[in-house]
Amino acid sequence: MHSIEIDGVTVLWTEAPPPLEAALVFGCGVRDETFRTFGITHLVEHLAMSTLPRLHHDHNACVDLRTTDFLATGRPEQITAFLEAVCGALSDLPLERLDREAGVLAAEAGEPEHPTTGALLSRRYGLACAGLAPWRGPGADRLAPEAVREHVRRFFHADNAVLILSGPPPEGLRLPLPRGERPRREGVVPAVLGTGPAWSQECVPHVGLALHSERHDDVALSLAVDVLRERLVAKARHEHGLSYEVALDRCAIGAGHRERVVRVDARDGEEKHVAELLWTEALRLAADGPDAAELAEEVAAAKEALADPRHTVSDLLRLADAELFGEPTLDAQEWLDAASSVTPDQARRAFATSMSSALLAVPDGVEPALALPDGSPLPAGGCVRSRELPPGRIFRPGSLQRLISSAARRTHLVLGDNVIAMRDPDGDVHAIPFDEVVGVEAHGPGRVVFGRGGCVIPVLPDLFAKIAPAVQRLDTVVPRELHYPVSAYWVGEE
Ligand SMILES: [Zn+2]
Repeated sequence: MHSIEIDGVTVLWTEAPPPLEAALVFGCGVRDETFRTFGITHLVEHLAMSTLPRLHHDHNACVDLRTTDFLATGRPEQITAFLEAVCGALSDLPLERLDREAGVLAAEAGEPEHPTTGALLSRRYGLACAGLAPWRGPGADRLAPEAVREHVRRFFHADNAVLILSGPPPEGLRLPLPRGERPRREGVVPAVLGTGPAWSQECVPHVGLALHSERHDDVALSLAVDVLRERLVAKARHEHGLSYEVALDRCAIGAGHRERVVRVDARDGEEKHVAELLWTEALRLAADGPDAAELAEEVAAAKEALADPRHTVSDLLRLADAELFGEPTLDAQEWLDAASSVTPDQARRAFATSMSSALLAVPDGVEPALALPDGSPLPAGGCVRSRELPPGRIFRPGSLQRLISSAARRTHLVLGDNVIAMRDPDGDVHAIPFDEVVGVEAHGPGRVVFGRGGCVIPVLPDLFAKIAPAVQRLDTVVPRELHYPVSAYWVGEE
């Protein structure tokens, strides 16, 4: 692997056979957004790509939790032209196309992670950083041009970019980007909200289990989770015929935070069964560990994958990540060496430790029977932390609604000194302290309040009578920049 610098951009390259593959990677992803600016990185990517002429070689761009990648495959002169065009567009973003590209984004509605993984990240981190993944935020039409300009200035410059190439840099390659300062990363990952172990019903298609670990290079845990996935394939798919897909997502969140999510889909009506199977298999692995043959199988599979020449680019991408974020990484050979020496007991201990952080998500309405190793029930997680309403002014549904609906009779809104809270028809209390509000969405005379902890409280005249004082309080107490009118794309959708 060679490392050089072109126009201030670090370029990592290796000598693989043609065609030339390139990825211009910026250290900016969903985790660098807030609820209010959610989608802004994706909008920048779209604005830049919208300037390209029709190209006859493979090219693409994508935004994930940590990075934005501009990718191309082709002849050296095609790669040179593509990269110069992308850099040119990022240096002078066509903000006059903002409205149109916002509309394209609304139509695309891509999510940075699978919805089950996104929901679990949101339970772990709340509505911040990687926890924003499953949300739609205020909508791309509510992002101001000044905010886009500021985002580009902070993140899309030569000093926050790495170019990787599968061959030598083409003669005369230029990367005309402005210079800047590498963004500081301290505190980018907020405090963990969902510590686990816990389960919750979520708006998700599949059952999922999330495990947190602090170490990026926990090879023993990595192998143990691979074994769990294989056992679930054997049980849920081959033995019981309940599932088609057992998937594993590995999410690097930031220094000291890594999340592994095992997702299992379920035949209609079998979600409870699948959730119980997933939990039982996880407990069994934590108690007894994998056997040596299972570990050897996973090491052999990894060896095969790493030997594939197509792996060159993903290896370079990993090095680009390490370069951008200063987090140490193992290269392919170091990983294999470490993996080959992991014992079954090391894998068991690593997995048992991470089970203390387990978050299990099931689709809405599914009620699995789940217990901890001591037989006590697995605690319910989710956003609700209380069944007690705080003191304050009470708002109720209108008298007619209360007359005809027992759910309406049970529902309250409370405006306290420093908090807005709601008791839902199930008796659960959702509370958002004012200093944890991440967004206030205006719906005519009503408001929808989004809280950092995952609660969403509708202060809407359709649901509660005489809400004007509550709306007025929210408008006064929540900083102006967190307010926005509901996206034009979603009006009438509810
Ligand atoms: Zn809530």
